[in-house]
Amino acid sequence: MNPSQLNSKHYDAVVIGAGFAGLYMLHRLRLLGLRSHLFEAGDGVGGTWYWNCYPGARCDVDSMQYSYSWSPELQKEWQWTERYPAQAEILRYINHVADRFELRRDITLSTRVTAGQWQAEQERWLVRTEQGQEVSAQFLITATGCLSESRLPDIEGLDRFKGQVYHTGRWPKAPVDFSGLRVGVMGTGSSGIQVIPQLAKQAKQLYVFQRTPNFSVPAWNGPIDPNHQKDWLDNYPKYRAMARNTRSAIMYDYGKQSALDMSEQERAEEMERRWQKGGTNFAHSFNDTFTNRQSNELLSEFVRGKIRKMVNDPTVAEDLLPRDHAIGTKRICVDTGYYPTYNLPHVKLVNLRQTPIERFDEGAAIVNGQRHELDAMVFATGFDAVTGALERLNIVGEHGKTFKQLWKAGPTSYLGLMTVGFPNLFTITGPGSPSILTNVIVSIEQHVEWIANCLTFMQKHSHTRIDAQQIAQDRWVKHVQEVASGTLFVTANSWYMGANIPGKPRVFLPYIGGFSTYAAMCEDVVQKGYEGFDFSRKSQALSP
Ligand code: FAD
Ligand code: NAP
Repeated sequence: MNPSQLNSKHYDAVVIGAGFAGLYMLHRLRLLGLRSHLFEAGDGVGGTWYWNCYPGARCDVDSMQYSYSWSPELQKEWQWTERYPAQAEILRYINHVADRFELRRDITLSTRVTAGQWQAEQERWLVRTEQGQEVSAQFLITATGCLSESRLPDIEGLDRFKGQVYHTGRWPKAPVDFSGLRVGVMGTGSSGIQVIPQLAKQAKQLYVFQRTPNFSVPAWNGPIDPNHQKDWLDNYPKYRAMARNTRSAIMYDYGKQSALDMSEQERAEEMERRWQKGGTNFAHSFNDTFTNRQSNELLSEFVRGKIRKMVNDPTVAEDLLPRDHAIGTKRICVDTGYYPTYNLPHVKLVNLRQTPIERFDEGAAIVNGQRHELDAMVFATGFDAVTGALERLNIVGEHGKTFKQLWKAGPTSYLGLMTVGFPNLFTITGPGSPSILTNVIVSIEQHVEWIANCLTFMQKHSHTRIDAQQIAQDRWVKHVQEVASGTLFVTANSWYMGANIPGKPRVFLPYIGGFSTYAAMCEDVVQKGYEGFDFSRKSQALSP
């Protein structure tokens, strides 16, 4: 829908964001008979998979699992082609969903929500867009994504650099040709590790500016095994239920033993077996990878050994060895040919561990006084994760404060679903929920379904307003940090800890108690009459 064609300015619900979360939410709101509308900043649906169309972009959850589970028909009719789906295939899937469920008529694209205000008297949210439109809604639901607010580092002279500049999270829609160019790339997280081998295929010269090496395991990606696909299609309900009953909401082969309870040979065989299978499952080799430093170090050293074997030049290999964090405490990466890329004669690793890029000038990045001449620079420098998009929304709550103003010491929420002072505002995969520590689609579905059920409850009881209670929120925020502090995750300078954004408070952003535990807690809250939430009724009830 064109922004100028909004036929009503008053909705029961407004959703922000057209990724997996927003689309499913819109569908569920419609089923409740609520007049709903969705605003999306991009000019297409898909969220992550719309924006991150850089070469090599790919999911690292098995394709049979990284999809919606809420429509048996959709599940049956969609055929995946690879073990791990590429960005373009996921984007096709999301567009198919938008068409199949006729979602587009209630979506306005190319429209960023830039402000919102709670109107206490009317008990409604007033929402403003970049183009100056205003709409009001009884319920406001953010589906703005944990990894949607991409960030460029603040490096002197970047604005003067005359070459092409790209960020993986804002990649252009038209193909980019790097043939014959001298290309720089900064960032060796999941995005960097995917894009680097692809850039190396085209560039005349590739400089990888690396600050922190990461752990990466092979994807061994390939065409999907038809028997595997058939097995899943035949048994979807059973497998989905099994996945929801795990801590990552993924059917993994979760290690059942501590590394320390195994003999050296058993450990070596187990790690090798998992390496040969590939994928993030490798991080679950032992049941204490994330809690026991010794076990973690055994797994870390195994990967370091693999890197040493894959990279010919021992000095380069040494520079690629991750030593500053425990494996998995920064998200483990999954790659296709990443380490051998450094054996190519035109690929050079520039180690920024001691000396950062001093500055850019018109044609080069300068490190330690040395010029690296560049025609293009690719930033794979990540996101202001989990809270960034919510803070940027500039939504003013009942107390006259925005999320940004309230969250100076770290985000506050009850179950990651609501924040005190923001009545009738739900945050899908909000801070303090498992979200990005899981198969995110499962976490999205759990939140959307919880919210939809809550709205049904409100309709039934003619409640018009819901608030999180301060005491429940305080307890939850404390619990989120307590659980995290029992793991190695809090020891890493990761985006999970807000460490990638200068000035961002260092708190653990998602909930690491496990998806199944979390979902059971949310259900328990419902069973106890929405414990920790307050409901109230205004004279005019929510339309049926
Ligand atoms: P998003 O897909 O991020 O969508 C949010 C949307 O909100 C965006 O389109 C954005 O433009 C819009 N928006 C934000 N602010 C505003 C505003 N103010 N006004 C209007 N619109 C706004 N997860 C996994 O589980 N497995 C994976 O393998 C995996 N791979 C990933 C690979 C990449 C490159 C990235 C970046 C993330 C990956 N993720 C993965 C996480 C991924 O973000 C989620 O799986 C999922 O796609 C999130 O969906 P979402 O709808 O919550 O958010
Ligand atoms: P990221 O993990 O935050 O990595 C950013 C990289 O940029 C890091 O290597 C970081 O180094 C570097 N960097 C940032 N600022 C820098 C500076 N000023 N100088 C030098 N280096 C700098 O971001 P991402 O790779 O985009 O991944 C984000 C998340 O998206 C992932 O963790 C994952 O959840 C998801 N993702 C998944 C996949 C997938 O395979 N499914 C693919 C892409 C993304 P430091 O570590 O030193 O800060």
